[in-house]
Amino acid sequence: MSDNSSTTSSRPLKPLSADQALVFKLDKLRQILIASEFCLMVVMVQRLLIGSWQTATILGVLALVLAICYYVAKYGRLQVGAALFLTSLTITSSYFMWTYGGLGDEALLVFPAILLFSAVIASYGLLVLLLLYMLATVMLLGYVNEYNLYTNVIQETSLSSAFLTSAILIIVSFSVWLLSRDLRNLLEKLSYENLKVMQSEDEILRLYNHDPLTNLPNRRLAKELFDKSVALAHRENSKIALIFLDLDHFKAINDSLGHASGDEFLKKVAERLCSVLRESDTVCRFGGDEFVVLSQSFEKDAQIHQLAQRILQGIARPFFINGNELIVSGSIGIALAPNDGDCFDDLCQKADTAMYSCKDKGRNNYCFYNQDMNQSEMEVLQLTQDLRQALVSEQLCLHYQPKVNLQSGEIVGAEALIRWHHPQRGWISPVDFIPLAERAGLIIELGRWVLETAVIQCKRWHEMGYKQLSISVNVSAIQLRRGDFEVQVQEALRQAGLPGTSLILELTESLLLDVQPSLQLCLQKLRQQGVILAIDDFGTGYCNLGYLQRFDVNMLKIDRSFVSKINHSNQDKAIVKAIIQMAHSLNLEVVAEGVESLDVAEQLRELECEKGQGFYWSRPCEALTFLELLQTSQIPQTHSS
Ligand code: C2E
Ligand code: MG
Ligand code: MG
Repeated sequence: MSDNSSTTSSRPLKPLSADQALVFKLDKLRQILIASEFCLMVVMVQRLLIGSWQTATILGVLALVLAICYYVAKYGRLQVGAALFLTSLTITSSYFMWTYGGLGDEALLVFPAILLFSAVIASYGLLVLLLLYMLATVMLLGYVNEYNLYTNVIQETSLSSAFLTSAILIIVSFSVWLLSRDLRNLLEKLSYENLKVMQSEDEILRLYNHDPLTNLPNRRLAKELFDKSVALAHRENSKIALIFLDLDHFKAINDSLGHASGDEFLKKVAERLCSVLRESDTVCRFGGDEFVVLSQSFEKDAQIHQLAQRILQGIARPFFINGNELIVSGSIGIALAPNDGDCFDDLCQKADTAMYSCKDKGRNNYCFYNQDMNQSEMEVLQLTQDLRQALVSEQLCLHYQPKVNLQSGEIVGAEALIRWHHPQRGWISPVDFIPLAERAGLIIELGRWVLETAVIQCKRWHEMGYKQLSISVNVSAIQLRRGDFEVQVQEALRQAGLPGTSLILELTESLLLDVQPSLQLCLQKLRQQGVILAIDDFGTGYCNLGYLQRFDVNMLKIDRSFVSKINHSNQDKAIVKAIIQMAHSLNLEVVAEGVESLDVAEQLRELECEKGQGFYWSRPCEALTFLELLQTSQIPQTHSS
């Protein structure tokens, strides 16, 4: 499926514009007039020398008329100048033919030249008129001589007549040379200009059909190519695969390395994709980090599986951008024509749905579209609608999970975890609806509600005497990027009357890869309010230590995927140990998530992990239950009253 842009060679030359033609003709008229004037002078002098006064006088009058023509032409009156010039020349020539040699006179030589000039520089009307006049003269001359009504005397061939003939031939050939030379030059210039115009037209067409960054076909051209190959696929009884590739976590790369490097990276991805595909496959870019591969002439699905694997393996090889080594993965959605339909937009939608389903299943993989996905896409839409409703009709609530000091066993904090009780579906996990809220932008409103409710709850516990308690709130990247997050936090703390030091904001690692100054400033202002910053699910992301220092982070929460297995897997235990040591060397406090047994809690204590959170102590629970936990635990209370 090659990308065939149309070529310039088949297009016709563009006609001369009216202005260009006028300037050209005026120019020629003036040049021919000067040459004719010069020639007339020479012949006139020659006639004077041989005493032919009458001819010399007529030539003198003609020279005067030509001078007038020159000025008329100089003022841009082409038609008037040309008509006067050619008519006077025709009349003078015919006069000489009548007076002297008739059809054997040298003056007859001027007629073809006059006709040529009138065709080139004057109008076709004048050409016809002059031709009729010439034919009439010639016929009349023949007639009167035939019937002896008038007799022309054929002049003897002499040096004088040879001179006159030569003069006429020279001026005629000079004028013809002048016209043809300039016409040729003009044609060359025109074809050059035409070529330039056509090249710019081609460039516009290319820009219209291609992505300017990678020079790959864009969506418009992809559709065109797809439509062409659908007909072929029908004839060959083969399949076309529309492969939708989205890079995983591209935003983090773009944010951390800057947009210029992000662009460079996308170009390299485009090159890499082109290098792993067959000649007949076409890679297109739809924008952002979305690439589409159109692949035709497939007979077996196994070939498409191989192709998708080749693409994933291709982009999994490291990229080197401005001294940084980048390792990325991609998620691929595949729709097939004719199996999933023949309409390009429809197939794009289906491949996109399959790609999202692949992302949901953990990324770095490929999925073929199937009917059920559309169903689940509809469900997602419905759920998003319901979530909007949930926000206003109090279907949301917060549960709190205790955070325990591993040395003393004391509850030192609570993590606020959102819960949604759907009127029909019952409890829905935040893992399912937080991504929806992020996609629909609802996370801003939802996050604000969580923050305000959580700090108020924490303040209540403080008032009950549990002043040691801190409250942890999960924060989505989208909330932070909104711009006024620190003001929101400040306002929530002020309204609840809670000190900033009692609030822990749990951020994800990928969020901190964002090098935007506004984000740095926001986190800095939060730190100035005393708010504690924690990295949630540590170990699952990029594990880049540079940002921990840059953002003045206070706490790491080790992901439960490592913690839950430390008593079974030596490798996970080694990872947890390394994280704890590294965190301590950076003066960071460590919280282990997902502690489900005494054994794990003991091991973490031995590894000098400060705090733990998990089902071993308690599942997330309602505020009332949490209070009971506080009251029944052996934790020393710090009642102020
Ligand atoms: P997270 O912040 O890492 O929260 C910890 C999750 O681990 C919670 O799941 C908790 O119930 C679960 N968990 C705690 N201890 C154990 C354990 O011992 N074993 C097991 N298997 N699981 C344990 P939950 O409540 O389903 O929340 C999932 C995620 O949803 C949270 O992960 C957080 O990323 C997100 N989330 C929850 N509430 C909010 C919120 O208000 N805002 C935002 N932006 N995200 C939230
Ligand atoms: Mg959390
Ligand atoms: Mg976590």
